[in-house]
Amino acid sequence: MSVKLLGPAEIRDLAELLDVTPTKKLGQNFVIDANTVRKIVKVAHVEAGDSVVEIGPGLGSLSLGIVEAGASLVAVEIDGRLAAQLPATFAQMAPDAKLTVIHEDAMKIMELPDEPTRLVANLPYNVSVPVLLHFLEHFPSIRSGVVMVQAEVGHRLAAEPGSKVYGGPSAKAAWYGAWRIAGTVSRQVFWPVPNVDSVLVGFERDTEEPGDEALRGRTFDIIDAAFGQRRKMLRQALSELCGSSAQATELLERAGIEPTLRGEQLGIAEFVSIARAS
Ligand code: SAM
Repeated sequence: MSVKLLGPAEIRDLAELLDVTPTKKLGQNFVIDANTVRKIVKVAHVEAGDSVVEIGPGLGSLSLGIVEAGASLVAVEIDGRLAAQLPATFAQMAPDAKLTVIHEDAMKIMELPDEPTRLVANLPYNVSVPVLLHFLEHFPSIRSGVVMVQAEVGHRLAAEPGSKVYGGPSAKAAWYGAWRIAGTVSRQVFWPVPNVDSVLVGFERDTEEPGDEALRGRTFDIIDAAFGQRRKMLRQALSELCGSSAQATELLERAGIEPTLRGEQLGIAEFVSIARAS
């Protein structure tokens, strides 16, 4: 398929045409470097015939890389000007590509066409974790993906129990599968240049999740309580959720977890055990 990628000049021309000044509120830092786009698509193992969902296509830099690899694309964009332009950009740069644009807040998306199997995105920084968890929760067809996020967030998503940056997002992400840091990205590949570093994070969904929706909800409530009071022992951190510290201790003992441990010491399997015992 013949596809042209966007470079710095095309990105600026498009922004000028649309009278777009990138906004911080929507995390609008556009990738202006074709090599970075190809690197993301390669690390994500996007292949011909894949069905990919992208959150926040912006002016289309990464979107064009995804279809260049032969995938079909569903792109969800909150900014009406950008969503409206994307089909026109594709008509010029990738006329044969299969593209569906959804103009909506990604957090509100409950249905997608095509049952995408991969998620590939340069996520808006301010909502990257909630948006990611929302898509993993609602779209089990998504089996793997690569997202570009702020470096701190990426290291948190991929952290193991006991590490300094391990927290609620790490434990929740682990419910869905395995996460890894898949590369770093220079600030210079963005326009405007952000004041934070970015990394690529890859994930593979486990073939079987630890349980059903009700169990996931209970597990996530326990994770929130455990990390809400990160420095406290579990028997104290879970006391409000359980009614009292004594009831929290009882629950933890039923689950076979030492009540004097802290949340940062537990992996997802232990959080699930507590939820099962509750
Ligand atoms: N993918 C493009 C690129 O790599 O150049 C743009 C990435 S930019 C970091 C993030 C994009 O997400 C912007 O286009 C922004 O408008 C969009 N966005 C921000 N919040 C969103 C939301 N809640 N739902 C969907 N898109 C959102």
